[in-house]
Amino acid sequence: MITGCAGANEPLNETRAEAKAENAAAKSDQKQKNLPNIRMLATGGTIAGADKSKTSTTNYKAGAVGVDALIEAVPELQDIANISGEQIANIGSQNMTNQTLLKLSKRAGELLASDDVDGIVVTHGTDTLEETAYFLNLVIKSDKPLVIVGSMRPSTAIGADGPSNLYNAVKVAGSKEAKGKGALVVMNDRIASARYVTKTNTTTPDTFKSEEMGNLGVIANDIYFFNDIAKKHTKETDFDIAKIARLPQVDIIYGYQSDGRYLFDAAVKAGAKGIIYAGSGNGSISDEAKKGAAAAMKKGLAVVRSSRTKNGVVTPNPELEKAKLLASNSLNPEKARILLMLALTKTNDPQKIQTYFNEY
Ligand code: GLU
Repeated sequence: MITGCAGANEPLNETRAEAKAENAAAKSDQKQKNLPNIRMLATGGTIAGADKSKTSTTNYKAGAVGVDALIEAVPELQDIANISGEQIANIGSQNMTNQTLLKLSKRAGELLASDDVDGIVVTHGTDTLEETAYFLNLVIKSDKPLVIVGSMRPSTAIGADGPSNLYNAVKVAGSKEAKGKGALVVMNDRIASARYVTKTNTTTPDTFKSEEMGNLGVIANDIYFFNDIAKKHTKETDFDIAKIARLPQVDIIYGYQSDGRYLFDAAVKAGAKGIIYAGSGNGSISDEAKKGAAAAMKKGLAVVRSSRTKNGVVTPNPELEKAKLLASNSLNPEKARILLMLALTKTNDPQKIQTYFNEY
């Protein structure tokens, strides 16, 4: 009997153990189901950078590590998201072209339109990160979180900032609070709007600042949002990535003492459809540069004054407005270029273009 009982209990114990294991697996499946599905689109940059030396933070190879290795390097991501990755490019962002920008943005748009994706994280070199982020902010037709992240130290460096930036980025991309706020840049424990943020320092991890307008939030273990973005973005803009096949050439000309018209002439000759003039102060333009701008506008180009000070509003100037020289509002020259490219896919009307600059 006893033996019989023991014999009868053995399979029962096994069944119980199996049931327990199944239960645990089901629970873990359930847990996975409750996690947000985050897709990571990798483009390269320092966050994917590597060097032989752990102390080298400048002379490394950007874009050396692939997307799977980036995800594997931070196993804690699995606790906060169902994460999977795609390699869009593996470049230093100084080499980001309009073509790659379109490829990335179209893919982000497709993924965000899918029910299987709750949010996107784009990994990117920091040098031109703000341009890509602002472009995404204007062309993606979705409320779902869209986060752009980079790092200032390569993955191999002591105190690499990539893993914590990536963890925070995924956390924000998976959060309900980040919905409807446009493209967000998450770096150094801050959450910034793509519209306001800019790179301010060549090497330090706190390089991204939203100097005049402020950040939208911080990550201090939890996510804390403080502000909303006042400018139109994503669903509220006239631009839809699904409908943009190519972008026109827009060049930036820097204003300086003794500048002339010849750079304008060169841009026209090279096929530019628009020019951003990074003027001094409040978008001031020298008399010589004005001649170049006038000649370019006569050929049908749109010319927008921004400011090399990178802060403050370039205000309308009645005299220059009469000459159809537009003003960039508070967009710095590189973001003004992004908006002018998009504006020119819709219109050549200076008044309409100025409205875009005022509202976006
Ligand atoms: N120049 C490289 C890039 O923009 C590295 C800069 C960085 O990612 O911090 O991708």
